[in-house]
Amino acid sequence: MSKTVLITGGSRGIGRATALLCAERGWNIAISYVGNKAAAEQTRSDCQKAGGQCLIKRCDIAHEEDIITLFAVTRDAFGSIDAVVNNAGIVAPAMRLMDMDVARMQRIFDTNVLGAYIVAREAARNMARSRDGQGGVIVNVSSMAAKLGSPNEYVDYAGSKGAMDSMTIGLSKELGPEGIRVNAVRPGIIETDIHATSGRPNRAAELGPNCPLGRTGTAEEVAESIIWLMEDSSSFVTGALIDVSGGR
Ligand code: NAD
Repeated sequence: MSKTVLITGGSRGIGRATALLCAERGWNIAISYVGNKAAAEQTRSDCQKAGGQCLIKRCDIAHEEDIITLFAVTRDAFGSIDAVVNNAGIVAPAMRLMDMDVARMQRIFDTNVLGAYIVAREAARNMARSRDGQGGVIVNVSSMAAKLGSPNEYVDYAGSKGAMDSMTIGLSKELGPEGIRVNAVRPGIIETDIHATSGRPNRAAELGPNCPLGRTGTAEEVAESIIWLMEDSSSFVTGALIDVSGGR
């Protein structure tokens, strides 16, 4: 029987690439989208062409009720939820700390931290053996920013991903006895639409070559690491923060 993965922010970028790879490997897929329904429908159609069953559901990851509904709809459609990819995330235009306001930090933390935390909680409630679940896997999409700090640009975003890394470690310890593995990938500079909102649209082209492998990464390369963490080939890996950054 096919396993089911729920991917937040699955209509484009790393989430979409992960959905397509999962479809090719026979997973059922639920993806959430927030603004662009047409893009989510395109991902669904491409997943179906690749051989996977796929549902799409609108869900603002900063809203608890949306997340609870997303899990309920996925469970109703596919029966169980075996893996969850905490992928949805935002960055704000590059800025120095002294020019930032609290609303910006609040928006980033509502999405990247609070949203990811609620998603992890709902994943645990669905998967935990103590609640008659079968166990499962959570993969958090963090960032190399958590390690590098992103001074003068995105210290708020870096802090949000640092929080995600801490949660990954803590949750791996808390949820291991429940049969749930929790890991994170930390992408470096990856060619996706997120850079359009970073205030430095050429950032990928400028910084990409500035790593040992000398180029930007692709969403598909991140997706390969995510799906490895979802599958049994990584069955003894939990609490790991895996850099997918070309050595950056
Ligand atoms: P992207 O902008 O293409 O994708 C982000 C996704 O998150 C989109 O589908 C968007 O709709 C969704 N999203 C944003 N806010 C949301 C909300 N409130 N509710 C629901 N969904 C929401 O960019 P991406 O690069 O594919 O980003 C995916 C993840 O990878 C993010 O968490 C990002 O921080 C992380 N990341 C990306 C890079 C990179 O260079 N591209 C590097 C490090 C980490």
